[in-house]
Amino acid sequence: MSIKVRIPTPLQKLTNNQVEVECEAKNIKELIENLDKKYPGIKERLCDEKGNLRRFINFFVNDKDIRFLDGEQTELKDGDVVSIIPAIAGGTELTEQQIERYSRQIILPEIGGSGQKKLLNAKVLIIGCGGLGSPCAYYLASAGVGKIGLVDSDKVELNNLQRQILHFTKDVGRQKTESAKEKLNSINPDVEVVTYPVRITSQNIMDIIKDYDIIVDGSDNFPTRYLVNDACVLSNKPLVHAGILRFEGQATTIVPYKGPCYRCIFQEPPPPGMVPSCQEAGILGVVAGILGVIQATEVIKYILGKGELLVSKLLVFNALEMSFRKLSIQKNNDCPICGDKPTIKELIDYEQFCQVR
Ligand SMILES: [Zn+2]
Repeated sequence: MSIKVRIPTPLQKLTNNQVEVECEAKNIKELIENLDKKYPGIKERLCDEKGNLRRFINFFVNDKDIRFLDGEQTELKDGDVVSIIPAIAGGTELTEQQIERYSRQIILPEIGGSGQKKLLNAKVLIIGCGGLGSPCAYYLASAGVGKIGLVDSDKVELNNLQRQILHFTKDVGRQKTESAKEKLNSINPDVEVVTYPVRITSQNIMDIIKDYDIIVDGSDNFPTRYLVNDACVLSNKPLVHAGILRFEGQATTIVPYKGPCYRCIFQEPPPPGMVPSCQEAGILGVVAGILGVIQATEVIKYILGKGELLVSKLLVFNALEMSFRKLSIQKNNDCPICGDKPTIKELIDYEQFCQVR
C-alpha cells in the first residue's frame, strides 16, 4: 500500500530535495510516523511537542482537506496522494530558516504562519535610538518585523550605555543610527533597517513617517513629543508613546480619532524647567527597558490585530513599588488637533510652543 506524499519547499531539505516521496501508511498519523523514520526531523516540523499537527500546516488527501475528513485518523488507500501545505500569506512562503527562527512564536495560535508573514511585511518607525528605542527595536527585529526605520541625530556617548542596549563601548562617538543598524542586522538579517541620522522637524517628519504603518515615540524632549503626536494625528498613523524618568514610566497607544491623542491627555507642555529631564534627574536603565519592551509589545499586537491595545489607557509603572496602574483616559472634544473643531491643521513651531528657545 503505497502513498505518494507531496513535500513543500521548506521541508525538501529533509527529503534530499525530493518533491514527492512514497510511504506506507494506513492513516495520516501513521504516515507522519513512517515519514519520520525515513526522513528524521520531519515529524518535529509537522507536529508540536504534544504530537498535534501544527496549525499552520494543512494536509490534503487527494484534493480533500483532512480537517473536513477524519483529521489525523483519515484513512489512506493505495495510490492516494497526500499534499502537505504550509500556511502562505501574501503569496510568499516562509523559508525553512524563517520557520525555525520564529518557531517559538509561530506555534502560538495568535500568530501562526499568517501572523509571522504580517510581521515580516510590517514597517515600523522608531523615533530615538536611546533608552526606549534600543529595547523596542531589539525585540521588533528579533520578532521579524520586516522594515524598521530609525531616526536619531545623536552620537553614542559613554553615559548612554547604562540603558541604551543597542550601543556597545566600542561604539562611543559613532552615529547612533549606524550603531543600532549594525546590531539589528546581526540579530536578524531578515530585517531591512533604514536610518535617518537627522533631527526630526516639522519640515521632514511627514515625509519620513509616510512610509510606515506605525510609529514609536522614543524621544526625550517635549517639542519632539508634540511634533510626533501632531504629525501622526494629521497623517492618521498609530503612535506608541512612552515616557520615562527616575523610577517611573508611562505608556499609551494613540490611534488617531479612535482614542485620545497626546494633546488630549496633556493639553500643554510643562513650562521649561518644571519637569526635569533624565539628564538632570536620572533614570534607572531597566525602567527604560521595561517601557521600551511595552512599546514593542503594543506594536506587535497592532500588527497582528490581536489583544487589547493601550488605547484610551495610560499605563503608569513605578519600579520602586513594582506597580503597574492602568488609568482610563478620554478623547477631548476640544482637543486642538483631534477634537471636533481642530485649530491645528498643519505642523507648527514646536520649540516655540514648548518655550524652549
Ligand atoms: Zn487629541
